[in-house]
Amino acid sequence: MSKPTFAGSNASLVRAHNLRAVLNQFLDASSVSRVQLAERTSLSNTTITHLIDDLLAHGIVVEDESETARHNGHRRVGRPRTALRINPNARHAVGVHIGIGILRVAVVNLHAEIIHNTIAEFDVGAPAARVLSQIAVLVKRAIANSNIQLDRLIGLGIGASGLVDYEAGVNVFAPNLGWRDVPVRAWMHDRLGLPTTVDNNVRAMALGEALFGSGRGAGVLAFVYGRIGVGAGFVVNGRPFRGSGAGAGEIGHTVMIPDGGDRCMCGRRGCLETLISEPVLVREAERLARRRPRGALARALRQDGRAKPIERIFAAAREGDASTLGLLEDRARYLGIALANLVNVLNPELILLGGMFAQGSEFFLPVAERVMREQAFASLGDRVRVRPTQFGWRAGVIGAAALALSKFFYQLEDA
Ligand SMILES: [Zn+2]
Repeated sequence: MSKPTFAGSNASLVRAHNLRAVLNQFLDASSVSRVQLAERTSLSNTTITHLIDDLLAHGIVVEDESETARHNGHRRVGRPRTALRINPNARHAVGVHIGIGILRVAVVNLHAEIIHNTIAEFDVGAPAARVLSQIAVLVKRAIANSNIQLDRLIGLGIGASGLVDYEAGVNVFAPNLGWRDVPVRAWMHDRLGLPTTVDNNVRAMALGEALFGSGRGAGVLAFVYGRIGVGAGFVVNGRPFRGSGAGAGEIGHTVMIPDGGDRCMCGRRGCLETLISEPVLVREAERLARRRPRGALARALRQDGRAKPIERIFAAAREGDASTLGLLEDRARYLGIALANLVNVLNPELILLGGMFAQGSEFFLPVAERVMREQAFASLGDRVRVRPTQFGWRAGVIGAAALALSKFFYQLEDA
């Protein structure tokens, strides 16, 4: 695979710093003029002109004629300003979401819009090396099928499960996969020759929302994801917050029931994950269905078709089945308590729910939000907005791609 390049990749440090400052501006505004760029970056007009000329020559930035006309139509004095914007399809990135037994791969453009995506399953008990080989094959195929130019591919971002050492690119511990110290970045870079960056998959989702989704402009954002496991990712002032040992956001393992709780994959008892996760809800729903074999829940679980058990549970709840609604409400309360704890620690302005929590948000969100507001300290819960992610299933791949876009293109420091 040929080496990806983009304007400025071998520029001097000062130039790279200036370029970063300019590209950052295009993340914050859909279109800007050279004058605005100079104002916002404190760079000289000459420097801006040189950088923009280069970006125009590479096709990365284009003149936005309609915006220029609209803007100058309102202006009566001074020279006309040319509105500039990123040409989203000038470069591409690949995002890989590693879930529990599921892989999603997407090729995206500079706005993190998906050009091509693919999904595959893997055996949860498989050795990490085999799963990484499968990912490499999927990435190569996705790139080939997306018909993009290889020299315009800026890199690969991977959202992995569990603890990830971002600096080292190592998946330190993924309890639901049984992975320990898997050198994901080095492995993928060796196989694919692409600049690669790896982070926790939910932290990646938070970054994707902060840069390209409904989290834009939020100072402190938490993304809370529930599927096989439960985790959170934080973005503070546009930067992912990882904590001192890459463990920030492991809310799935906050202990909710200290004595007598169920055993968790992490080895402890009574973790949040043992109360509200997909396998737990399915297990509890099956128990309820056995008690009422002719009820709506039992019928939904028995039905033919490809719907996953959790979708059948939501279907029974949508039919108004009281026992299913009772189960979801009961478990949503624990989510609400976890959110209240999170609010007390992080004081976020926005909490986005993803995975199963977004899929069944009509059941989880109102209860969890109410409990969060009741339980959070003083008025901390009052102004927090709680919303389902608008990216739906795309949150994982958009987040993973955002890791690559922020590091290799927009060059956010520490991103
Ligand atoms: Zn646990």
